Amino acid sequence: MSRNTDLVARYGSPLYVYDLDRVTDARDALLSSLPETFELFFSFKANPHPEIARALRGGDGRGCLAEISSTGELSAALEAGFDGSEILYTGPGKTREELTAAIAAGVVSFSVESPGDLRRVGEVASAHGVVADCLLRVNSATSSAATSIRMTGTPSQFGIDSETLADLMPELRAVPGTRLAGAHLFSLSNAKDEESLIGEFRHTISVAADLRREVDLPVRLLDIGGGFAAPYLTPGERPVYPGLRAALEEILDEHFPDWRAGTPRIACESGRHLVGGAGELLCTVVNIKESRGRKFVILDAGINTLGGMSGLGRLLPVSVGLGDDPSRDGDPAGEEVATLAGPLCTPGDLLGKNVRLPALSVGDVVTIPNAGAYGMTASLLMFLGRPAPTEVVVRGGEVVSASRIQFVRKYD
Ligand SMILES: *Cc1c(COP(=O)(O)O)cnc(C)c1O
Repeated sequence: MSRNTDLVARYGSPLYVYDLDRVTDARDALLSSLPETFELFFSFKANPHPEIARALRGGDGRGCLAEISSTGELSAALEAGFDGSEILYTGPGKTREELTAAIAAGVVSFSVESPGDLRRVGEVASAHGVVADCLLRVNSATSSAATSIRMTGTPSQFGIDSETLADLMPELRAVPGTRLAGAHLFSLSNAKDEESLIGEFRHTISVAADLRREVDLPVRLLDIGGGFAAPYLTPGERPVYPGLRAALEEILDEHFPDWRAGTPRIACESGRHLVGGAGELLCTVVNIKESRGRKFVILDAGINTLGGMSGLGRLLPVSVGLGDDPSRDGDPAGEEVATLAGPLCTPGDLLGKNVRLPALSVGDVVTIPNAGAYGMTASLLMFLGRPAPTEVVVRGGEVVSASRIQFVRKYD
């Protein structure tokens, strides 16, 4: 039996498998493509599994900090061993309740997205007798020349419009319970190549330098966001960034000459690049049928298990391989084209149309590669009431844990 078929026999199907060795490899590779003093936040929304987060934190040597945005992610971060001081809390709709939970757990750093958000952070911090360090998330009025023509920023629930900052600064500086600690800009996910990533960082860093000069924004920590890419649900390797480190050093030398001495500290963020390649989804063919000349392969995993954003009309780029082989190079002669459907009673439960598949039979275990980020977390877990998939964590080829999220109705 192949490893994956064996895991399904032991733990059931569908099943996520996360490999912690690949998690730490991705972290170490990304850290070595960044300047040595850079801090790196892991964005929990990509995959908040506590074992993954614990591996990313490391503990000996350079590890990740935590970027979280909910009380669920807060619990995961604490369970993974992060200290409150290692956590940055972000998001445009932080409630008093969640701020209370975060501050009570020792979180002191927040990215704030509007004056109201900053005031709420301040109220809760004051009630706890602490002062919160707040990064102003900025919605830049310009976008990078590398990704599009220069244009004015678009309206957004994220960040404070940069052109309003000059007028707002006196008010923002005076919010009790808060101290302005720096700037947070996040403008890009999944950059198409190294050149666009560098172009985006060049723009972000120059915007931050302009703000410091023009509106006297205090910048002790500058979080320049991310954009590090990863393949999603198709075979492929995470991209490498051989020129990034030197480019960032040159850009920072120009705009923040004292950055090497930690003034300001510089941080960036990543979700998919750190964990996407560490996960696979194993599932089983439960039925194969023809309808009006089209073949349908029906799996036990649909948008309730994997990237349910497809339920919003966006088809996933899924490809599957037989058993252990995500590159699906079984028998090319046996390849066929079919629609890949999940088990849910909704026409939206499609993982792919006209997907090239190896010849499959009912009962075959198939593997969907690069599903470690935005796999389970971005899926419609509750939809149609199937159990959540089991998540198995392996390290050095050995299973270190198997667990399953459960939904339990509790009456007040
Ligand atoms: C989602 C998010 C990220 C992570 O994005 P990836 O594309 O997974 O790297 C980073 N920062 C912020 C603020 C985010 O909202």
